[in-house]
Amino acid sequence: MKLTKQTLQSSTDQVYDTIIVGGGAGGLSAGIYLQRYLLNTLIIDKGKARSFWMQELHNYLGLPPDTPGRSVLRQGKEHFLSLGGDLLDAFVEEVIDEGETLALRVKVGRNQSEYYTFRTKYLIAASGIIDYLPELENMRNVYDYAGYNLHVCLICDGYEMADKKVGVFASSAGNAEVVFPLGWFTDQITLFTQGQFEVNDELRSRITEQGYEIVETPIEQFLGENHQMTGVELTDGQVVELETGLISMGSKYHATYLDKFNLEKKGGNLVTDKMARTSHPRIFAIGDLKVGLNQVVVAAADGALAATQIWRDIRRSGTGKRVDRKVNV
Ligand SMILES: Cc1cc2nc3c(=O)[nH]c(=O)nc-3n(C[C@H](O)[C@H](O)[C@H](O)COP(=O)(O)OP(=O)(O)OC[C@H]3O[C@@H](n4cnc5c(N)ncnc54)[C@H](O)[C@@H]3O)c2cc1C
Repeated sequence: MKLTKQTLQSSTDQVYDTIIVGGGAGGLSAGIYLQRYLLNTLIIDKGKARSFWMQELHNYLGLPPDTPGRSVLRQGKEHFLSLGGDLLDAFVEEVIDEGETLALRVKVGRNQSEYYTFRTKYLIAASGIIDYLPELENMRNVYDYAGYNLHVCLICDGYEMADKKVGVFASSAGNAEVVFPLGWFTDQITLFTQGQFEVNDELRSRITEQGYEIVETPIEQFLGENHQMTGVELTDGQVVELETGLISMGSKYHATYLDKFNLEKKGGNLVTDKMARTSHPRIFAIGDLKVGLNQVVVAAADGALAATQIWRDIRRSGTGKRVDRKVNV
């Protein structure tokens, strides 16, 4: 059921088998599996998943390559709800370990927000990451192209950039290294540093040896129309023509609600075992948030693994028969 402020009281009175934080590709996949294992599940999602910004999902088996990310999300939510799962649009602020249960402190409503506590035996962190974008005075100008032909994912969209004149927008020398794998797809690459970091001699010579260019003047705005970026105007008025672009500026990890748990991490990503379990036995992590490949197919597969392991844990902790379970204690 889609929960609202009016209908969520009965949900705060029960203990869910699993609460999933995040209703993107990973969270929805986990939710569908859990409901099909006849486990009661709540997905809490603040919206605007990474998949929401994905204008076209190009590489998912069985779906046409122009399938918008938001269609996948809509269809996934309908599927989850049709199996009797609970879904709440809200923001998880904090998780507290109570021993037998985990308690989630949740903010409901952007305006006139109210706070509620939900309890669960298991938690799946499926809250993903979000890409940093170039900071321009007019951010509307960035959103006009980001996710269209101004890409954020080389794995997803290298194919779309093949043999094209590509601008790479990086925020550090480490992020600028993306020009080398991008060189598999095209040799027409211009690196834009925006003057934000220094390109040392070693990196500069590796880049220029490949025939790539480096522009260090900051960008005034992206140029183009109908969501198709055709170049950039620099702050000195110079125009650089491009056919497409790749942003490589790092990501923000959506996992502050787990800070107290001190879970094992690699970079910002949560480390898990092969069934997506973190260093806490009742917390799983799936999709972009965990160490792995940031792809829809991987997030969906992670969801299947985490849900299956939770089902095994619950099944093995009792008699193995569902009828003997004390549900909603
Ligand atoms: C522009 C773009 C194009 C892409 N193209 C492709 C492609 O062609 N093919 C491909 O396979 N992949 C592509 N990707 C990558 C793909 O979108 C991700 O790998 C995938 O969405 C990861 O799924 P997820 O479930 O881990 O996270 P997400 O889809 O990001 O979902 C996480 C959800 O959790 C929510 N959330 C975060 N914090 C909280 C909180 N505290 N409380 C409640 N909710 C919270 C977020 O709002 C979000 O709704 C693309 C990504 C982008 C940005």
